Amino acid sequence: MPDIHPIAEGSSLTVEPGEQTELLKRGLVRVSIAASGIDPLLDKRLNELRRALRADAPPSMLADLLPKLEHAVLTADQKRQERASNIAKSLQIIIEQLQDSEPPKDAAKALRTLGRRLTDLGELPRQLDSILGDLQQLQGEILQSEPEAETAGLWGRLFGRGERRADNEPSQADPMPEASEQLAHHEDDQAGPVEPAQPAITGVISGEQQSFSQVAAHIESILLSLLNELQVMEAQQTIRDRLREQVSRGLNWYELAALLDSLTGLILGAQQSRQAEFEGYLQQLNQRLSQFQGNLEEAHTNYNGSLEAERELAGDIRNQVADLNENVRDADDLSSLKANVELRLNSLLKNIDRARELREERDNKVSQQLTTMVERIQVMEVEAQTFRRHLEEQRRQAMIDSLTGLANRAGLQRRMEEEHERWQRYGGRLLLVVLDVDHFKSINDRFGHLAGDKVLRLIAQQLSRRLRKTDFIGRFGGEEFVILMPGVTPEQGATALEELRNGIEHAPFHFKNEPVPVTISIGFTEFREGDTLDSTFERADRAMYQAKEAGRNRIVAADSP
Ligand code: GH3
Ligand code: MG
Ligand code: MG
Repeated sequence: MPDIHPIAEGSSLTVEPGEQTELLKRGLVRVSIAASGIDPLLDKRLNELRRALRADAPPSMLADLLPKLEHAVLTADQKRQERASNIAKSLQIIIEQLQDSEPPKDAAKALRTLGRRLTDLGELPRQLDSILGDLQQLQGEILQSEPEAETAGLWGRLFGRGERRADNEPSQADPMPEASEQLAHHEDDQAGPVEPAQPAITGVISGEQQSFSQVAAHIESILLSLLNELQVMEAQQTIRDRLREQVSRGLNWYELAALLDSLTGLILGAQQSRQAEFEGYLQQLNQRLSQFQGNLEEAHTNYNGSLEAERELAGDIRNQVADLNENVRDADDLSSLKANVELRLNSLLKNIDRARELREERDNKVSQQLTTMVERIQVMEVEAQTFRRHLEEQRRQAMIDSLTGLANRAGLQRRMEEEHERWQRYGGRLLLVVLDVDHFKSINDRFGHLAGDKVLRLIAQQLSRRLRKTDFIGRFGGEEFVILMPGVTPEQGATALEELRNGIEHAPFHFKNEPVPVTISIGFTEFREGDTLDSTFERADRAMYQAKEAGRNRIVAADSP
């Protein structure tokens, strides 16, 4: 680099003014070279500065260059900040993806800490190396770790079954565990297991089966909530219950395809029956409308016909009166005139009577037709109302969780938006509570899924019974519930929630005379100035996880701001 000449340190204790300027210029050239490569525009300006310095440009020219240089520095700095923010966003996405893969607890915690380090954008460029190193290490750990949840219950269950199959046992759904059997009997007497596909399996467990067993719990949970929320006609309810029962008992790789087939059939069937119902209604409506149109046209023709007849009659009457006039004028003697007038008057009266009859006839017909039309409209109105009610009921049903009878995720989302909007408009207090059943998986594993379902129903009953009318409760999914409590302070909320927690802990959940211990962990927070629904929910959810980490069966209020 020919431009750089080291400035001898300490060699110029007494520097002449000319030398000083020279040193300053050289220093500037060195700094400008060190700063190059950050941004093209900045490079261009630095280049101009260097050229001017080397050419001994007059101070006025340097003064002209400086504002441009300053602008280029500011722009480069802004771009640097944007780049840092983009890097932070991308890293955040990677962290979220890793969090979604349900990492072990320690790794999840380390990911959260790493996420927080990304928020300091000023420090990011300096921290980037170390952040990337930590992320790489965590990613490695998470990818190598086995999913904790699956190993305990389903893993063993599915593998147990696979091994027994290898001994050539019939490839049918396993007999239900004793506990589930008893509940199944109570829940649905007629629903028998759906026949699964029966592949000829012998020997070792296949690779597909093995990888399936790793995600089985997840798939089961998704299928269960799909079946819970699926709106079906009455005739299809037995099939739905049967499928739910099958999923609840646990699936293996071979049964999955058969079950998905049945599920597809069920969904399509439900959709078709709803469509058929709607089409039926539209056809009926169409028929009624064309009948109605026929009535109107008939009434119109009749009206026109009788109007024409009446007009003809009026013409006849007018002619008769004219004839009468003529007769009176031309009459020679009184007696013939009298006879003539009498004759004409009689025929005139007859015609007038006929005209009146015609009008009455027409009026009656029109009034009859009107009555028929009004009746038809009334029938149509009743039908439309029934159909509207039916639609409203369906819409309402779509917001309800069929297992617990509480609002489902969609219903909950709607109510949360309403309450949040009300809170934003009118202010006041509003608490958001996230509640999760402790070790629910082990309840399922010990007593069976149907017993688990029953526990969920009982918890929902307890919650509904213990909360105030103004509180709103919904099933967020799985064994997680959300409560909205308007008009209470965090202290009042904490007291009510403590009663709830205590009530559930001491509720007499029993299965086959054996007490089933059920506890819940609760996190809650108050809506604060500037809160969005998402940020508030996340805060309450974090508090709930803190309650889990602190030992479960407890309540944690989110940190104050
Ligand atoms: P923690 O105390 O940490 O919350 O542990 P947990 O076992 O409750 O939590 P985890 O999320 O590991 O397990 C939840 C289980 O709930 C897994 C899933 O199969 C089960 N589940 C989800 N939906 C239903 C359902 O509708 N019925 C039944 N019986 N079980 C369900
Ligand atoms: Mg749980
Ligand atoms: Mg949970």
